[in-house]
Amino acid sequence: MARNPIQFQPGLSLPAFLEQYGTEAQCQAALFQHRWPKGFVCPECGNSTGCRLSRGHYQCHRCHHQTSLTAGTIFHATHLPLTIWFLAIYLLTQRKSGISALQLSRELGVAYNTAWKLKHKLMQVMHERNQGEKLSGRIEIDDAYLGGERPGKRGRGAEHTFPFVAAVQTDEAGHPQRVQLRRVSGFSLVGIRRYAQQAIAPGSQVISDGLWCFRAFDTPIYSHDRHITGGGRASVKNPEFNWVNTLLGNVKNAITGTYHAPRYLAEFEYRFNRRYDLSAMIPRFLTVATRTPPMPYRLLKMAEAYA
Ligand SMILES: [Zn+2]
Repeated sequence: MARNPIQFQPGLSLPAFLEQYGTEAQCQAALFQHRWPKGFVCPECGNSTGCRLSRGHYQCHRCHHQTSLTAGTIFHATHLPLTIWFLAIYLLTQRKSGISALQLSRELGVAYNTAWKLKHKLMQVMHERNQGEKLSGRIEIDDAYLGGERPGKRGRGAEHTFPFVAAVQTDEAGHPQRVQLRRVSGFSLVGIRRYAQQAIAPGSQVISDGLWCFRAFDTPIYSHDRHITGGGRASVKNPEFNWVNTLLGNVKNAITGTYHAPRYLAEFEYRFNRRYDLSAMIPRFLTVATRTPPMPYRLLKMAEAYA
């Protein structure tokens, strides 16, 4: 089946990126601006006067607490120069298909394990950002799985290890605007109700197939179109599910395996939803990064601690 092409805007060029974020001082200034847009604020007592000690370290004038630009953020206790972090953000956000940890280690000139940690911390930032967002308007929705075969629509069974909902918000003309890939506890009424509360704005028009659990949308809060498709290839051809099927094809090409799947889904969702705004992605990413709490390696390694 021919897939609809998904358009991405050209991003920030590498020279343009380096001009803005090529030195440690530039990266520190950018981080400061996103962390403390109205000037230094002591994380201990909230006081707004302090002095810069050295290398991104600050001391509060009131309680004398010392802190750094990176303390308490996703950059916490890093041994890497900020220029390496920023370049990693650039490589992860500006490329249409993202970048693997192995590729990242080669391009940054760091060890694989370092690149892996870097990538997963950045994906955590994307996850944090996605969590607050809801889809609205016309939404195509489908059940999906990672980690097992999906032999047509009726292959919903125990062999599927990672259930998630794939949703696409389209405009009036049926073109995709935003996507969502969210883990659910299962395809039960309770699981989908919880999902709906977190992910779908009231008043939305939800289009699903006849899967029982999608009756969770049969409430006055939503308008729900159920399309009984009969399963198998017929459902794939149903034009109502055009975009959600395209999306799922792309996701499954991009993600192999289910370990850390929530983070990979978050990365896909984040980049897709910002595909028309690539050059603004770095400053916006930094804002969220300074609000994302540190993620120690032991948590990073655990897929389940994350979701
Ligand atoms: Zn203080």
